[in-house]
Amino acid sequence: MSDHRFYIVTDEAGASRALDLLSVLFEEDGLPIATMETDEANKIWEASVYASGEPDPALKQRIAACLGEDFAGTPIEIETFGDTDWIAKSLEGLKPVRAGRFLVHGAHDRAAVRTNDLAIELEAGQAFGTGHHGTTAGCLEMIDRVMRAYPGGPRAMDPVLDLGTGSGVLAIAVAKLGPVRVLATDIDPVAIRVARENVKSNRATARIACVTAPGFHSTAFARKGPFKLIIANILARPLMRMAPDIRRNLAPGGSVILSGILAEQRRQVLAAYSGQGLRHVSTLWRNGWVTIHLK
Ligand code: SAH
Repeated sequence: MSDHRFYIVTDEAGASRALDLLSVLFEEDGLPIATMETDEANKIWEASVYASGEPDPALKQRIAACLGEDFAGTPIEIETFGDTDWIAKSLEGLKPVRAGRFLVHGAHDRAAVRTNDLAIELEAGQAFGTGHHGTTAGCLEMIDRVMRAYPGGPRAMDPVLDLGTGSGVLAIAVAKLGPVRVLATDIDPVAIRVARENVKSNRATARIACVTAPGFHSTAFARKGPFKLIIANILARPLMRMAPDIRRNLAPGGSVILSGILAEQRRQVLAAYSGQGLRHVSTLWRNGWVTIHLK
């Protein structure tokens, strides 16, 4: 559980730059990083690194080192959340999120669901993916687009792989679109536990199998694949490394949706996948992040 954050106060461009520089902390230590606009009128943004336990001066130094010259004069501030479960708290405070036809909401916001919404109900858990992050929202929107446009409709896009499922949000979204089988994997067993709970509360257990696996290291991929759609919202570097595995597990004519990619990393990722014979179809841009559809 995270109970404090180190952050800097900056502008939108600064927040996007800081996110890029800090992404190494997320990649290597799994620390959640985030940017948010705290004052819309004055265009003030914050870039944060969330951490648990007692604030660690060594982490503060690492953050300063990551930010480097660009932010030399910017103080790194701290906010503590006391003993509260900030994930639960933040989810309570957060409004339901719309992306494509999906509405992602907590149990307390069931009333916000409208007749034509594809509602995904998530409980506050310790896994990434509440729909509030630009990458999750981008993936939801892209999944809706890609599955609807597929010849034969969403039901023909069977089976689907959600690599790095986190809270399970994307796998649940896929299952809401059509009666397809989804393999949802994550390197983190805690995420898989949370994903299973969310799959259950969204009544999708018959369609979604949740499996703990680092990358493609599991027999589940061969048993359940090849996949008509592979979704991976991880980060640019691991996604580039995984390009050959993703290609190998993709059914002929299948689609790949990638996110967790900063706008400036887009070309590199596209190059890695074009090396595997996959071509770019479309890109969605959100808060400095991109979601890419390849075929
Ligand atoms: N799919 C969710 C969560 C994305 S966060 C969403 O879109 O909101 C990225 C997830 O990928 C995390 O849960 C992390 O544990 C997982 N992950 C990171 N590296 C991985 C790897 N090599 N193999 C499998 N999962 C990985």
